[in-house]
Amino acid sequence: MKIGGYSLFPIPGGRFRLDGGAMFGVVPKALWEREHPADEHNRVEIVARSLLVAGEGRLLLVNTGIGQSWAEKERARYAVDPAVRLEDSLAALGYRPEEVTHVLQTHLHFDHAGGAMVERGGRRVPLFPRAEYLVQKRHWQWAQAPSERDRASFRSEDWEGLAGSGQLLLLDGEEEFLPGLHLHLVHGHTPHQQLLRVTDGRSSLLYCSDLVPFLSQVRLPWIMAYDLNPLATLEEKRRLLGRAAAEDWLLFLEHDPLVQTCRVRQGARGLEAVPAAATPAAS
Ligand SMILES: [Zn+2]
Repeated sequence: MKIGGYSLFPIPGGRFRLDGGAMFGVVPKALWEREHPADEHNRVEIVARSLLVAGEGRLLLVNTGIGQSWAEKERARYAVDPAVRLEDSLAALGYRPEEVTHVLQTHLHFDHAGGAMVERGGRRVPLFPRAEYLVQKRHWQWAQAPSERDRASFRSEDWEGLAGSGQLLLLDGEEEFLPGLHLHLVHGHTPHQQLLRVTDGRSSLLYCSDLVPFLSQVRLPWIMAYDLNPLATLEEKRRLLGRAAAEDWLLFLEHDPLVQTCRVRQGARGLEAVPAAATPAAS
């Protein structure tokens, strides 16, 4: 699809599984498993779906998937599918890693930044050798010393080498950092998560990252147990999804295995997702 001068492409960056209870917080399993069948370990299927924004002389990638650097024990724990590689997904569209000009990391959890760097000759180097990696400064600081509750979500080897690479650009706050590319900051899931909105002033697409991982989580109380501050997430969803409904934004879902994009509307019982069939511009 196109918005203004940008062409947008979904980029498969991994397939894995996480505990369903952790993914849906206070929502009972009897409700969530209708839409997300659990396996024998109570895990639900998840994808890591990056977004490529091409145009205006730039090639910007939002998030870098779950990556390939997994020891066997962890790979089994999260059922990481080794067959899905970010580089292959880019190559399928005719792009090479050297052509990427910007990598925007919404945040540094392992399923979003796992593919930022790659092993070459015994050391980790940025997978995209010419790209500027964009990270929020205060999220970067948080990731250096997370709490006991969220430290399992960060694997510092995924991204710490960016610091000495000369390719890390730390951003400070919410802004239109390039024409048509706006950042929205949200803090409930993790401090200073940045969401990208691509807009031409009429149409908008919001990369929802972990504010709305699945289509089912358009419902306001469907919030992950991973979130450090679920009441902040609730208000952030109310504000941003309310604006998405009013301005007819397209929402890009990073984690939903079946649905890439949706719109939202105010229904009789609150915000609801508009079925994909009603969004022909989605694919
Ligand atoms: Zn996350």
